[in-house]
Amino acid sequence: MEKKNPCIVMVLSPGLSHLIPLVEFAKILTHEDDELHVKLIIPTLGPPSSSMNSILNKNSLPPNITFTLLPQVNVEDLIITDENPQPATQMQLTVKHSLPFLHQELTSLITSTNHNILAILFSLFSTDVLDLAKEFNLLSYVFFASGALFLSFCLHLPHLDDQQQQHEHEQEESLLFHHQLTEKTTVHVPGCPVPFQVHDFPQPALSQRSTQAYKSFLGVCRKYSLVDGVLVNTFTDLEADLIRAIEDQANNRENTNSPFVYPIGPIIQSATSNQVNRLVCLRWLDNQPPRSVLYISFGSGGTLSQEQLNEIAFGLELSGHKFLWVVRNPSNFGGSAYLNQQKEDPLRYLPSGFVDRTKEQGLVVPSWAPQVEILGHGSTGGFLSHCGWNSTLESIVHGVPMIAWPLFAEQRMNAVLLKDVLKVALMPEKVVDNDEDGIVKREEIARVIKRMMEENKEGLEMRKRIKELSDAAAAALTQNGSSHKALSTLTKKLKCSI
Ligand code: UDP
Repeated sequence: MEKKNPCIVMVLSPGLSHLIPLVEFAKILTHEDDELHVKLIIPTLGPPSSSMNSILNKNSLPPNITFTLLPQVNVEDLIITDENPQPATQMQLTVKHSLPFLHQELTSLITSTNHNILAILFSLFSTDVLDLAKEFNLLSYVFFASGALFLSFCLHLPHLDDQQQQHEHEQEESLLFHHQLTEKTTVHVPGCPVPFQVHDFPQPALSQRSTQAYKSFLGVCRKYSLVDGVLVNTFTDLEADLIRAIEDQANNRENTNSPFVYPIGPIIQSATSNQVNRLVCLRWLDNQPPRSVLYISFGSGGTLSQEQLNEIAFGLELSGHKFLWVVRNPSNFGGSAYLNQQKEDPLRYLPSGFVDRTKEQGLVVPSWAPQVEILGHGSTGGFLSHCGWNSTLESIVHGVPMIAWPLFAEQRMNAVLLKDVLKVALMPEKVVDNDEDGIVKREEIARVIKRMMEENKEGLEMRKRIKELSDAAAAALTQNGSSHKALSTLTKKLKCSI
């Protein structure tokens, strides 16, 4: 009989921050085992962006990783009942809408190819895929492209919800605000030593319990306890207590003594030569003094209001420090470019004369920059970041301390972790405790930039701590490192399933 090649199927959700680490993970798996094939199946919302195309460029993928883009879903196809749809809801609905195509793909993979499917892995908002995994009798794993902190919160949310359901008359309320108003002003996440303010949690969890955003998010969280395991992009030395707390929460699962959580990170984007604005950024950095540049970026789709954009520009000028800033068109919703591509030139929204006045001080690039190479460049000394999890890991891996400026999703939780637990980030006052107009003013921005970029005890300690984390991150990936061991445990289990 013809030998079948082992194959892992990965189902993504829209959004670059899910695509990037899953593609990198696929590369690691196929590098470790050259018989293994990885098939990426990608639901899409709208046309693919140029950044997505460059990540999926056939020349940058090894031959044993192949992909299929499922037929494009349009925003109008999604049945969205909430007034302001959340990216998380859009991602979940896109996957749901794509299930019939996914079913077809899986059927043809199983019946007409020479592949032996070991397991199906899916992104954190793609849990509807679990039903297909059960139908095809496949092992199912979530690839959680965030940290153990957010995972612990997601596993805890169904318990909070169950508690509240017991009080029938309170069912319509927002769960976490109820928690705050009736019990305490802070919320504890299992395994995290510092408490959270309610507004630190992602918007879907704060919505009224009757909203689509809340129900969809809760539905995703409930399914986590039904999968065979969760691969989380973190490492033991970064989030040890949280990882332990997750195992404890999962302890009552039926019929298994394998681990539930596999901390296999940090898995970060590898540098590629075809990134937008690459040469202009790297050449400019080459001409700057060591550790002198503050890199400013809000991830793959973070946006600021026009007023906040102006304040940052003036704050940079006031600080006098060198900067490399990835600018996007303004918007009043912090994640407005996450699932929507922007067409205009964002530089035209900067204050009049700013680019000219700062041409010796900084570089401004529209929309996209080669982030990993910038963070790894010796001239970069700080990162003003929205604290998306990939950016967080990339900064840690390269030992660059951060100014935390969270915008949406679980970014405020990540910011608390960075600032209060790991103590490798500063946070400008008022980003979280917004004053009435919700704007961080230029003077505060200049003050925090100086604290980060100038020689002082606080800065030195932050640099020392992030260097230790950077070393621990590298150690976790070595042959005897914690993440490598977690991955070996997983691959052994998968191979036993043949
Ligand atoms: N990224 C990049 N260049 C940019 C902006 C983002 O390469 O100009 C990459 C970044 O390195 C990271 C990802 O896009 O890998 C953003 O993911 P993250 O989780 O930080 O934020 P999100 O996009 O989910 O808000």
